Amino acid sequence: MRLPGRYSGTARPIVTYGGDPVLHRPCAPVTDFGKDLRRLVLDMFASMEAADGVGLAANQIGVDARVFVIDCPDARGEDVVGYVVNPELTVLEPHEGEPAEEVTEEGCLSVPGPYAELPRAFRARVDGVDAAGLPVSIEATGMAARCLQHEVDHLDGTVYVDRLPAELRERLLAEAAGPEGELPA
Ligand SMILES: [Zn+2]
Repeated sequence: MRLPGRYSGTARPIVTYGGDPVLHRPCAPVTDFGKDLRRLVLDMFASMEAADGVGLAANQIGVDARVFVIDCPDARGEDVVGYVVNPELTVLEPHEGEPAEEVTEEGCLSVPGPYAELPRAFRARVDGVDAAGLPVSIEATGMAARCLQHEVDHLDGTVYVDRLPAELRERLLAEAAGPEGELPA
């Protein structure tokens, strides 16, 4: 369970589906490892926490940069907490006794409200760098592995509903939009 006020950044508004083109195109690799990047990472943790999310990509707060944060339980219930700059995703072979894939419900802060079942690899790893440009990796299972795949998708301009059949996607987006038929600003 996350503790309130754990992150010292400032929460920024979440971009919703269709609300900003930055959510729907690949993000630019980070090349400047200065204080703006450290501020961005802190603000992303704060934004994720404020929105009660388990992961967040930079373009979900309108920033065109390949950075994501995660605070999500793995298959054993252990929290996977971290961030990666310029992540590369590798889907891993399952260990003995693990499924290759899992089909469970997935949701997104940028499509607030609904969830939909989506197959994802059970075990995955991202390799990238930290805010100082030093190499980091996160390997995870279960929901945390799903989150890694979901966030790297975001940085490639893909929201999870884009992976679903058009009819279902439209239904989920309408559900997220609420009775007014418009996504919240
Ligand atoms: Zn998302």
